[in-house]
Amino acid sequence: LESRLNGGTGNIFAAATAMAAEYGSVNLGQGFPSFPTPDFVKKCAAVAITDNHNQYTRPAGNPVLVETLKSIYDPLFNRNLDAMSEIAVCSGAQEGIYNILVSFCDEGDTVLCVEPYFDAYKKAADLLGVQTQGVPLRQTPGATSAGDFKLDVDELDKAITSKTKVLVLNTPHNPTGKVFTRQELEEIAAIVRKHPQLVVLSDEVYEFMTFDGLPHERFALLDGMWDRTISLFSAGKTFSCTGWRVGYCIGPAHLVAPLHETQSIIAFCAPTPLQVGVARAFETAEEVGYYESLAATLQAKRDALCSALSAAGMKPIIPQGGYFVLADTSSLLDEVPVESADGVARDVRVNEWLTKKLGITGIPISGFYSPGNRELSDNVLRFAYCKSDPEISAAASKLLDAS
Ligand code: GLN
Repeated sequence: LESRLNGGTGNIFAAATAMAAEYGSVNLGQGFPSFPTPDFVKKCAAVAITDNHNQYTRPAGNPVLVETLKSIYDPLFNRNLDAMSEIAVCSGAQEGIYNILVSFCDEGDTVLCVEPYFDAYKKAADLLGVQTQGVPLRQTPGATSAGDFKLDVDELDKAITSKTKVLVLNTPHNPTGKVFTRQELEEIAAIVRKHPQLVVLSDEVYEFMTFDGLPHERFALLDGMWDRTISLFSAGKTFSCTGWRVGYCIGPAHLVAPLHETQSIIAFCAPTPLQVGVARAFETAEEVGYYESLAATLQAKRDALCSALSAAGMKPIIPQGGYFVLADTSSLLDEVPVESADGVARDVRVNEWLTKKLGITGIPISGFYSPGNRELSDNVLRFAYCKSDPEISAAASKLLDAS
């Protein structure tokens, strides 16, 4: 295991939460809502338990859930989905990532990610002896919006070899908050068409969280891309219940069938009552205006945290969607210099400094880069704003006090 973990340093999200607990800081680290799961959602799971949905269910997904997902996603994908063969439920989207990589990559293959990337892609690849390669998003000079992060598609094209089996896309993007435009995705699709061996993992767990009216674009809708793409979603993210561990993949039957197999081997099935709970939550969400209120709530939290970061001199790159904002920590170079005798990455040291001195914990994103590009993260930290209003206010006043 040690050698397969590639010198990895444990789970950065668990470490940030433990550090925040130890120092009593405001935890803006791991992307989980600290406000309560909505009552209508909680009730759905409570009722499912009372209704005796407490045993194993179909490994590929509880029949009630996959039928409900079909009714939700048919219009979004503009298709008549087959609930039994084109949907695979997983124990959280993170397990979905593993299921996809174990299904489509052999040892020595490569998975290509847009950098910075959620480190679970690389960790899953490491476990499987699969290489991770990154193609960086580059910031245009003076960038203020996550929309200013651009992917060079020629660079992407050049990075693809016959060993590249999976291309991971992610919109809204963790950690930058970029929401890819249709045009940007079209350019990527043109590259995918040139490489018939590639499977696309389109991680869209923040699909219902775009801001300022921006649309969420689905890669699988582009010409020819349905047959090439597994889209990955998270009920935990959509319904603010990340501990339920219910995620799901949607794609063509030939790509989804292996996921049914791997799910039955790895966890047998995701938690049954919570799958039924998610189905019922989806049935209610639209009529209570849930999706609009989720996006509006997060947008207000984004604005509050970004204003405080700006006032504290930690220039934020304003996210267009999702849970996270990247902020520039170069104003703290006197307190935390780039060079350090212990060789610990600067972003990790800045996060410790902020936790101990200011009482705020974020996530260092050096682990979101491949080794050659890691210095791009030296002066950047990620903060999650999917937090309760009192926590956002507490973080804001600590930042303002320090400014
Ligand atoms: N996506 C979450 C984040 O980036 C973490 C999810 C997880 O740890 N499984 O904070």
